[in-house]
Order: sequence, then C-alpha cells, then structure tokens
Amino acid sequence: MKNHSTTDDDTSKAIGVMGGTFDPIHFGHLVTAESAYESFSLCEVVFVPAGDPPHKEPKAVTDAEHRLEMTRLATEDNPHFCVSSVEVAREGHSYTVDTMRHFREKYGAEAELYFITGVDAILQIPSWNNAEGVFEVCRFIAATRPGYSLSELMQFTEQLQPEYRDRIHVLEVPALAISSTDLRRRVREGQSIKYLVPEPVQRYIECTGLYRDI
Ligand code: NAP
Repeated sequence: MKNHSTTDDDTSKAIGVMGGTFDPIHFGHLVTAESAYESFSLCEVVFVPAGDPPHKEPKAVTDAEHRLEMTRLATEDNPHFCVSSVEVAREGHSYTVDTMRHFREKYGAEAELYFITGVDAILQIPSWNNAEGVFEVCRFIAATRPGYSLSELMQFTEQLQPEYRDRIHVLEVPALAISSTDLRRRVREGQSIKYLVPEPVQRYIECTGLYRDI
C-alpha cells in the first residue's frame, strides 16, 4: 500500500474514475476528486454513478437518472471533471470490472487508470465480481477522512499479492466527514443541507422532493 504519490512513469496519461452510488453526491466526493486530481497528477476525473449497485437492495437506492443528473449538476463547473453514464446505461448489475475494462479500451493500454472510491468500499473488493480482474486493469485510490483507523485496510492489503498491494493508494480527505446517509437523513427530518452539497444539487433535491419520505 502506498501513500499518495504519482506513479513512477509520470509521462503516461493518468485518468481518475470516481465510482460511487452518489445518493446524493456531496462536497466530500467533490473534494476527494479534486484532491486525487492534484495529488496523482490526473488529466481528468470521470464520475461514474453506479447504475444498479450489486451490493444494495434496489429499493434502497434512488433512481439512477436522479443520481446521474445530480452528479452532472455538481461537476459542471469543473473543466477537469466529467460524468459517464456507462453504468447507468448498462443492463444488469454495475460491476466495476466491466466499467474499468470499458475505460481501458477507451483510453488505451498506456493510460494509468485509478479507480477512486471510499475506503469502506475498497475493503469489500474480495467480494466483488472478478476482483482479480479489477486489480489487473487499474490502481485504487482509497479515500478516507483523517483520523480514520487504517488498520483494517492494512490487514486487507497484507493478504494481497505484493503487485496488487502496491496498487492501493490512500488519500486523506477532511471533507469526507460528510456522508450521503447523513444527508438523506437530514432531508427526511427537514434539516438543512446547505454548504454540504453544491447549490444546484440542493435545488434539485428540493424541486424533486427526493429523500423526503425514505
Ligand atoms: P458504499 O458502500 O455506499 O460506500 C462505502 C463508503 O465509501 C461510504 O462511506 C461512502 O460515503 C464512501 N464513498 C463511496 N463512494 C465514494 C467516492 N467516490 N469517494 C469517496 N467516498 C466514497 O459504496 P458505493 O458508493 O455503493 O460503491 C463504491 C464503488 O464501488 C461504486 O463504484 C460501486 O459500483 C463499486 N462496487 C463494485 C462492486 C462490484 O463490482 N461487485 C461491489 C461493490 C461496490 P457516501 O455514502 O457519502 O458516498
């Protein structure tokens, strides 16, 4: 496991793929992506809202079109962010291995691909569909808030083959204290989400009535 640094070959194109359910997207996600962009000298960060997350009950997740639209609204003012609907458009469960193979084909064999997501999601990789295939196609940036114990992640990486271990990088992001679960609770209980999500996302949630009744 490496702390955040660029890879040895800095001449290759490095792309960040920001994977998440984004239900809803918040400033913690955006700061994570921006921080990864800077720390790993990425050319761009592609946000990929999960279409049908295999590890979640379908009813527990907001409609993919809403999550995709909120992700578009949240990222539109950043020239090095973009959004891909590849998982939302694909039929069936959203498996990261399929997504990263899609981006490998798009960006070519020379590109360095980084899959960026929360450390808790990274810990679940052994249960993912074709986990080994994902390691073969990309590196991982495990985003965590400062002070979060990394012992579980250390235990996890120690069990990995050395070449896979070096493919996991940790990125500390103070703004990750914000969580989608807490935002959904706040809306449900009528509390403010101002300054926790971008304004267009806040307006979208207000206009659509998302999260009020769940
Ligand atoms: P999750 O279990 O909802 O989230 C785990 C933790 O990570 C939460 O604290 C979450 O905070 C945080 N998190 C999620 N995405 C993040 C991001 N991009 N940056 C920073 N923190 C993030 O995880 P998930 O969002 O559903 O899944 C994460 C990614 O793993 C998705 O792309 C998903 O498709 C992939 N995945 C793949 C498989 C598979 O291929 N079989 C299985 C599971 C997950 P918030 O709730 O605030 O976001």
